[in-house]
Amino acid sequence: MPDKPKIAICWLGACGGCDEAVVDLNAALLDVADAVSIVLWPVALDYKYDSVAALPDKSLALAIISGHVRFSEHREIAHMLRKKAKLVLAYGACACFGGTPGLANMVSKKAIYDWVFHKAPTVVNPKGNIPQEKTEIDGETITLPEMYEHVYALNQVIDVDYYLPGCPPPDNLTLNAVNAVLTGDLPPKGSTLAPRRALCDTCPRAKKKPERLEIGEFKRVHEKETDSDYCFLEEGILCLGAATRGGCGESCIRINMPCRGCFGPVPGVDDGGTRFLSALASMLNSADGPSLQKLAASVPDPAGTIYRFTQPSSILGRKKLD
Ligand code: SF4
Ligand code: SF4
Ligand code: SF4
Repeated sequence: MPDKPKIAICWLGACGGCDEAVVDLNAALLDVADAVSIVLWPVALDYKYDSVAALPDKSLALAIISGHVRFSEHREIAHMLRKKAKLVLAYGACACFGGTPGLANMVSKKAIYDWVFHKAPTVVNPKGNIPQEKTEIDGETITLPEMYEHVYALNQVIDVDYYLPGCPPPDNLTLNAVNAVLTGDLPPKGSTLAPRRALCDTCPRAKKKPERLEIGEFKRVHEKETDSDYCFLEEGILCLGAATRGGCGESCIRINMPCRGCFGPVPGVDDGGTRFLSALASMLNSADGPSLQKLAASVPDPAGTIYRFTQPSSILGRKKLD
């Protein structure tokens, strides 16, 4: 009997939600587990990185990698899995675009250290210690991974074959992706394994979306009781559906939350944030220049809003360092 295809499921800088999404496959996970041999899954199974590193190159059919790259350890694991796997799937918004942790690129590493180790109200650190990559204790050297100045998406560190966005990705698309690898029925390298359409195209609130949207005042979602028949934008609530790829099942919209963009840009668009900004600019409705400026300035945390999941792969770059 031929060996089952070997698969690694691995997290880098991840919250664990993407692994949880794999666990949530429930009964379907048993079928997957029956069809493949899982050789690494740190969150669920006690295999070691060294044992995967000892396998022949390209001996894994697939490495499913979630999480962003911020530490040297993330980079080393990503490179090792790239070497061992025929296919790498960037799984989840963090791996695909940098995810919410990528917003850390809006501050410097020094500012993060200052807050986390010195200034946060819950910190007691009289000696002002910060993590050291190398520490000598009793003749022994203890090492920690290097924290980079920048948060990276996976494809900024290794070659990626396929992408499955979402925070986390939905179970139907995860199953489709694994089945596609097992059957070899795959789209061209570099494809995103999700529908090629915008979220607005399937949104139940789009039915009554007017031809021309006009926004005279922005509201946060908790400030207004919305009508579930109407587009959030018509109510002045920022919803990134027009600039975001569909496929999530409109899961936020269906619980009365606007889209924050975890599926990344619509197909054919590199930078969803600028696409959304230009659409938004055409909706602003104000009497004169100064009030227009005031309205535009009232968008809360503009960069964090339009690049919530995609900062590292956006055209924004990072905060200028001192
Ligand atoms: S994509 Fe979302 S669920 Fe997955 S690791 Fe990142 S933050 Fe967690
Ligand atoms: S902007 Fe949001 S609420 Fe409006 S149609 Fe698009 S996804 Fe739906
Ligand atoms: S509605 Fe938007 S933020 Fe919510 S799951 Fe779908 S793509 Fe992600």
